[in-house]
Amino acid sequence: MAMKTLTLNGSTVEFEPGQTILEVARAHGVHIPTLCYLDGCTATGACRICVVEVKGARSLVASCSTPAEGGMDICTDSERVRQSRRLTIELLLASGNHNCITCEMSGDCTLQDLAYSYGVDTIRFPNTPQPHAKEDMNPFIIRDFSRCILCSRCVQSCQEVQVNRAISNGYRGPTAKIIAGCDQRYDQSDCVFCGQCVQACPVGALIEKKGRFQGRAKDVDKVRTTCPYCGVGCQLWLHVKDGRIVKVTGVEDGAPNKGRLCVKGRFGYDFIYSDERNKTPLIKENGEFREASWEEALDLVANKFREIIEKHGSDAVAGVSCARSLNEDSYQMQKLFRAVFKTNNIDHCART
Ligand code: SF4
Ligand code: SF4
Ligand code: SF4
Repeated sequence: MAMKTLTLNGSTVEFEPGQTILEVARAHGVHIPTLCYLDGCTATGACRICVVEVKGARSLVASCSTPAEGGMDICTDSERVRQSRRLTIELLLASGNHNCITCEMSGDCTLQDLAYSYGVDTIRFPNTPQPHAKEDMNPFIIRDFSRCILCSRCVQSCQEVQVNRAISNGYRGPTAKIIAGCDQRYDQSDCVFCGQCVQACPVGALIEKKGRFQGRAKDVDKVRTTCPYCGVGCQLWLHVKDGRIVKVTGVEDGAPNKGRLCVKGRFGYDFIYSDERNKTPLIKENGEFREASWEEALDLVANKFREIIEKHGSDAVAGVSCARSLNEDSYQMQKLFRAVFKTNNIDHCART
């Protein structure tokens, strides 16, 4: 498709027809702040932080939802734009409870960062109390409506990223809120607790229950790893404080999951610290298990295989590799059965 040109902060730049102003700016290294914009989802234009000035237009336009047009003359950081953003930030801070001292997301909150970078040191508007009570009745997610800025990123992530369609925008005006189903609790709705909405929330309105008060962003080290639960191999960030995992999030720019996780990958990490977890091999003797070394356990298994094969032939043994193991481990397992045990009785549980 033929490229077009426009003027961006005084420079002539090329763009592909169909791109939004925000996409053109990003493609040319120009930063425009956003709150509601969620990569890969339909732009809602809800927050008005990304407004820019287009010469000849009467009002500022939301760059995330306005298509770029050839010949446009755009200014992304004029005084008028900055004043508008400051006003929006003030209005958001005046709505509900934005006492950052007690907020789990302090230090990792886009609204807090914006307030700081735009020098918002006074709020000229009276505080609007939030009419909806905090929801704390499920094991995974706390919904604090007093910190919600109604950006709808959670809705986008539920509807368009995970395609669960459990939540949507409900009510109007001062009573507007994000609702699950027909305004039910998360645990009584279609929510499957994938936690994608929590990852998408740019403020402290959706909080992981287990990680609360366990360590803010500045307190944790992020360690990248692969989810241990299934063969998809989703990429995780482990948020680790003092050697303990306090939270898990998806790696946004990592294949195959691009930030998405299911309930097990995101919330199912407690087993690591369970006292009931087997930490050594167990050998059953006379109906009772006893602890054994890896050497003893592996020798026992190898000898049993040898005995069976010697007595009944190679096809008397079979193996099923587990979808939770790595591709490399599954490869080695089929090699063991084919090359060492001399049988093709080898399968993988994900094939069925
Ligand atoms: S949501 Fe952000 S701005 Fe609001 S209290 Fe929490 S850290 Fe502060
Ligand atoms: S946890 Fe998942 S299913 Fe539930 S509302 Fe959030 S994104 Fe939707
Ligand atoms: S809960 Fe978070 S993501 Fe959802 S609308 Fe409120 S602030 Fe935005």
